[in-house]
Amino acid sequence: GFRPASRISSIGVSEILKIGVRAGAMKREGKPVIILGAGEPDFDTPDHIKQAAWEAIQRGETKYTALDGTPELKAAIREKFERENGLAYGLDEITVGTGAKQILFNAMMATVDSGDEVIIPTPYWTSYSDIVQISGGRPVLIACDASSGFRLTAERLEAAITPRTRWVLLNSPSNPSGAAYGAEDYRPLLDVLLRHPHVWLLVDDMYEHIVYDDFRFVTPAQLEPRLNDRTLTVNGVSKAYAMTGWRIGYAGGPRELIKAMAVVQSQSTSCPSSVSQAASVAALNGPQDFLKDRADSFKRRRDLVVAGLNAIDGLDCRVPEGAFYTFSGCAGMLGKVTPNGKTIGTDADFCAYLLDDAHVAVVPGSAFGLSPFFRISYATSEAELKEALTRIAAACGRLS
Ligand code: PLP
Repeated sequence: GFRPASRISSIGVSEILKIGVRAGAMKREGKPVIILGAGEPDFDTPDHIKQAAWEAIQRGETKYTALDGTPELKAAIREKFERENGLAYGLDEITVGTGAKQILFNAMMATVDSGDEVIIPTPYWTSYSDIVQISGGRPVLIACDASSGFRLTAERLEAAITPRTRWVLLNSPSNPSGAAYGAEDYRPLLDVLLRHPHVWLLVDDMYEHIVYDDFRFVTPAQLEPRLNDRTLTVNGVSKAYAMTGWRIGYAGGPRELIKAMAVVQSQSTSCPSSVSQAASVAALNGPQDFLKDRADSFKRRRDLVVAGLNAIDGLDCRVPEGAFYTFSGCAGMLGKVTPNGKTIGTDADFCAYLLDDAHVAVVPGSAFGLSPFFRISYATSEAELKEALTRIAAACGRLS
């Protein structure tokens, strides 16, 4: 019979996927399910980006490219880092992969040996711990609850570092919490890292352009040049330019690391898609003004969802600084009983109830390593969000 390799046997199918499957099945049965689970913008890829892809096809750019990115795309990324982050990476300090996910995978596969520890604050994007495990490493999860703004603190970081620590993974703004690190939040963490020269820092800046109010996005390489010989700055076009399906992510970091990551890539995908790379050049070099309009549109939806959730007795939603997720506490729902006589024991029970009763699909905090919470992705229409909130409030009202 079939026997999976041990490197994947501890990795289950994600809860997000399972909920998606159930919600999809209910929809096909004709139930009016609203899915607030998707991790992608509801906007389309802008026309000038699509046009650049089409032109690349017509020029015959349909062959393998340079292993870790075309010279044109690397130049555009160098410009981006300089323009937006004040960082001066050389072309050999930049790598391009098939999504930021592959960049993370390349980085872990290239550096993590069996038993090496990787510090991941929770709640975290599920793939972090799974990728670390596939690479043979040991995820070291640190709970960062709402009282710390879902952010890692210097004390907790210091306490988690051991001689086996290889990396710390930080994500700002965060999927799933929407929490972001300002310069003053990063500073104490960077001071800790300065004292531990064997620990490397990977920062995932995927949601850089989706920030609200007066929050000022910063990235550690910009704040602490003394850490630059062990910092990998990861970013991508998926969320900013609504390009999730094009599969292009990139990073800037020390030359030796970038070279080692290319070795992994050379034996997995050979190179990112040629057409998608041409499109990404247009995304990074083209007009950037629509990013602000899109962020404003997300902000209206954030405000709607946060207000709607906080109006419900028993829910507690922190105002996120960025990304398009809310991560609400649902401790007040635990112990309550559904109209069918089921007791809500966990956040997963609460989310199952919302799907059954309100036909609204959301993801429990357990999927992101922190309970009792649930994540809403508000990258959907305001009309659908309003309807979902009305239904969630009604379903919560039916609990006793
Ligand atoms: N990092 C974070 C925090 C994400 O939420 C996601 C996608 O959900 C990714 C990285 C992966 O993005 P990509 O589409 O570039 O692989």
